[in-house]
Amino acid sequence: MPRYYATTPIFYVNDAPHIGHTYNAVTVDAVTRWHRMLGDDVWSLTGTDEHGLKVQRSAEENGRTPQEQADLNSDRFREAWAGVNLANDDFIRTTEPRHHQAVQALLQKAYDNGFVYQDTYEGWYCVRCEAYYEEDDLLDDHHCPIHKAPAEWMTEENWFFKLSAFQERLEAWFEAVPDNITPGGYRNEAMGILKLGLRDVSMTRSSIDWGIPVPWDDDHVFYVWYDALINYATAVGYADDPERFEAWWPAAHHFIGKDILRFHTIYWPAMLMAAGIEDMPHFHVHGFLLLGGEKMSKSGNVTKIAPSEMTEVLGVDGFRHALLRDHPFGPDSEFSYESMVERYNTDLANNYGNLISRVATVVGKKCDGVGPAPQADSPLAAVVAESYATAAEAWDKVQPSQALDATIRIVRDTNEYLQQNEPWKMDPGPEVDAVMGDAIEAARIATVLLWPTIPEAAEAAWKRLGLDGTVAEQPLPAAADWGGYPGGLTVSTGDPLFPRVKG
Ligand SMILES: [Zn+2]
Repeated sequence: MPRYYATTPIFYVNDAPHIGHTYNAVTVDAVTRWHRMLGDDVWSLTGTDEHGLKVQRSAEENGRTPQEQADLNSDRFREAWAGVNLANDDFIRTTEPRHHQAVQALLQKAYDNGFVYQDTYEGWYCVRCEAYYEEDDLLDDHHCPIHKAPAEWMTEENWFFKLSAFQERLEAWFEAVPDNITPGGYRNEAMGILKLGLRDVSMTRSSIDWGIPVPWDDDHVFYVWYDALINYATAVGYADDPERFEAWWPAAHHFIGKDILRFHTIYWPAMLMAAGIEDMPHFHVHGFLLLGGEKMSKSGNVTKIAPSEMTEVLGVDGFRHALLRDHPFGPDSEFSYESMVERYNTDLANNYGNLISRVATVVGKKCDGVGPAPQADSPLAAVVAESYATAAEAWDKVQPSQALDATIRIVRDTNEYLQQNEPWKMDPGPEVDAVMGDAIEAARIATVLLWPTIPEAAEAAWKRLGLDGTVAEQPLPAAADWGGYPGGLTVSTGDPLFPRVKG
C-alpha cells in the first residue's frame, strides 16, 4: 500500500488563524482525503511553531510565561481546524518533549558529521521575521522588506551550519527529481537561489532563551527556523521510533506558501543531508490570497479574516469547496466574499444540491421512491469516465481547483440531461426509469468525488440515495466506475443540502 505523508507548515503561534492558513490546511485535508479513498496509507500533520523572540516578547508584554502564551494561542489553531473539519492525524507543537528530543538528535548528528562550526555573527535582524537580512535586501533606513519595520543590528557568537557544503548535492537532487517542487515556477525560483551560491548560515542564538537548548553548548538555543523545520521529522518518529521514521519519511509531502520557499526547499534538504538522511521530501507551493471585492477589503487584509467568518455564511462544506475551487494552487489568487458566495451558489446550491433534490423528488413521484438501475450505454457514462480521469490526475498533481472543475462537470451535465429529457413530464414507466437510473448513478459518482471537499454533505447525500455504508469508505477508482448503483434502493428527500445564499 503506497504511503502519503502530508504536512501543513506549523503555523506561528502568535498569529490568529486566518483564511490564508486555512487555504493551506484545507488543501492538505482534501488531498489527503483523496489519497485515503485511493487506499493509500495516509498520515496528515499540522501544528504550531512556538519558539523564538517574538513569542518571548509578546509573553512579556502580556505578563505571561512564553509557555502560557503558547498554550493559549496554540488552542486557537486547534479550534479553527476543528471548525473547518480537518481530519489531521496529528497536531504537533514545537514545545513538546518529543520535538525537543528530535531537534537535539538531528542537529547533534549534523554537528557530529562536521557540518557545524562556531563563529561571530553580526547583521541586521528583523525580530518579526526571526531572520537576519543582507543590507541589500532591506528597505531604506534598514527596514524589513516584509514588515516595513526597522531591523536591529545584532552581534553574537553563534554556531553556523555549513550550508555551502551542500551546493552540489542539492543541485544533484534537483537534477534527479524533476518534480521535487511543484508547480514548476517555484522549482525555478529555488534553482535560482541555488545558482547564486550558498553561504553558511547561523543556526543558534545566545541572545534569547525561549528555544531548544543546543546539546553541545549550554549558552545557546537553536534559531527558530532550525527548530521549526524539524517538526516534520519529529512527527513520524525521528528520535523515538526509527522504524516508523524509515517507513514514512520517503513519503513526505510538504505543502507551503511561497514566502517560506527558501527555508523549506534549500535549508531543510541540506539539514537532512547533514544528518545523514537520504530521502528528500516533495514540496507543493502556493501563492498568496489577495483580498478583493467590496465587503471584505474594508477589513483590510486577508490575515484579518477568520475562517469562521466564511463558514457562518457558506457552512463548513460550502466554504471548503469554494475556497479550493476558486483559488488554483500555485499562483496568487484574489479572494472576495462576493466570488465565494457566487461559487457556492453556482456549484453547490444550483448544481450539486439541486441535482440531489431533483433526483429524490422525481424518483419519489415517478418511480415509487425506488431508484432504477442505470443504463449501461448511458450518454453520461462517457462524461463520468472523462471527468474522473481528469480529476484523478489533477488531485495527483495537487490541483484541487481543476479536480473540482472536472467533478462539477458531471453534475452540470447530469442536470442538463434531466432538463433535456424532462422526466417530470413523463408517465411512470421504462422511459422515466432509464433517465432516472442514469441520473442517480451520476449523482452517486459525483458524491464520491466531492467527498474530499464536502465530506458532511456527501455523506448526507449518500444516505438520501439509499446507498449502504459511507462515502468515506468507497474505494477509488472502482467506486467511480459507471454501473455501481445497483437499483432498487429507497431514495429519500430532505431539506436542501446547500440552501442558496444571498450575495
Ligand atoms: Zn520582517
